[in-house]
Amino acid sequence: MRALLDVPRPELLAWLQAQGQPPLRARQVRRWLLAGRAESFEQMTDLPRPLRQALAAEFEPLGTRVARHQQAADGTHKLLLRLHDGQLVECVLIQEDGRRTACISTQVGCGMGCVFCASGLGGVERNLTGGEILEQLLRLRNLLPLTPNPSPPRGEGGKTSPLAPRGRGVGGEGARLTHIVVMGMGEPLANLDNLLDALQTAGAREGLGIGARHITISTVGLPAKIRRLADLGKQYHLAVSLHAPNDELRNRIVPTNPRTGTGAILAAADYFFEKTGRQVTFEYVLLGGLNDDVTHAAELARLLRGRHAHVNLIPFNDVEGLPYRRPGQEALNAFVDRLRRDGLSVKVRKRKGSEIDAACGQLRRSALQEQPALVNLGLPAQTER
Ligand code: SAH
Repeated sequence: MRALLDVPRPELLAWLQAQGQPPLRARQVRRWLLAGRAESFEQMTDLPRPLRQALAAEFEPLGTRVARHQQAADGTHKLLLRLHDGQLVECVLIQEDGRRTACISTQVGCGMGCVFCASGLGGVERNLTGGEILEQLLRLRNLLPLTPNPSPPRGEGGKTSPLAPRGRGVGGEGARLTHIVVMGMGEPLANLDNLLDALQTAGAREGLGIGARHITISTVGLPAKIRRLADLGKQYHLAVSLHAPNDELRNRIVPTNPRTGTGAILAAADYFFEKTGRQVTFEYVLLGGLNDDVTHAAELARLLRGRHAHVNLIPFNDVEGLPYRRPGQEALNAFVDRLRRDGLSVKVRKRKGSEIDAACGQLRRSALQEQPALVNLGLPAQTER
């Protein structure tokens, strides 16, 4: 059965018409999923019961199932979602300083093969659909608490809306996601059309209301796609995974680099800044003994000086079976100091939810390894929701 969010609007309208229903119903159903937190058609109480039954016979309200849900003491949640074909993807909710950030995946696995990354170890299986990307946001948002006694809903123009009011869930007024980072499994720019579809809805007032400035897209660095993104005229924040200050070293860490080269990536990042006015972030995973020397920091500073750049240093998160390690605190401090002395804006990414394998691709990988049955046979239906 198809998931409702992947049914094209004209098709849904035609189906509704065949049921003798007005086109307004399409908006109503989507609104229940997007703003009303509904996870079943039965919960869509302002739809006629026969319509709810007909919808349930034809479509899935949500096509993903929660195969695992882990929660860390710091408020980080991680979901392993099973897709209709049994594939697994991860998404994470990070709560910090009043921000509620969803970290989402765009592909099952990843084809880029960065040597330190768990997502790419088995290659890429397939792209996620727009609906599957959007559902990660809904599943994470639905974990946020509801306030039990909602204030009376405000409809458009002060009138009571016939649609489930914005931000109001099945059980009351709900907290909303504030930010999205596209830093889960997969290479977002290798699945750009479906990602943009999902982000369009995420950004819409009738969707999740998360503006482009609060959405970060992280890429391994595909120059032509970065330029396409720049040409959209949207205010997305771009993060480029650089990981090395020169091609010789980057070729050893990022297998796509020999084809692209840092020069073309930086030129595309400059273009992105010119077109959007948005400062680009360069991510740099620190791998102890490989790219964490102060000489690398000095070279990185030379490379980025004069650019409107911000550097995000990410100490390596351990991945079982991989031979890399985090740098020691002294090496990390020296690296940061060097960049700052050379005038760069630098942040070191804090570790969130490390006890639940929150680094990308790790939960899926451990599920695939520990429990092949989880993947091949499917979990009993009761354990999923
Ligand atoms: N394909 C995109 C998104 C990857 S995930 C990209 O390459 O940017 C987001 C960031 O996490 C990337 O910078 C990625 O290199 C980094 N990352 C992946 N595995 C990691 C690990 N084990 N430890 C630290 N950072 C990691």
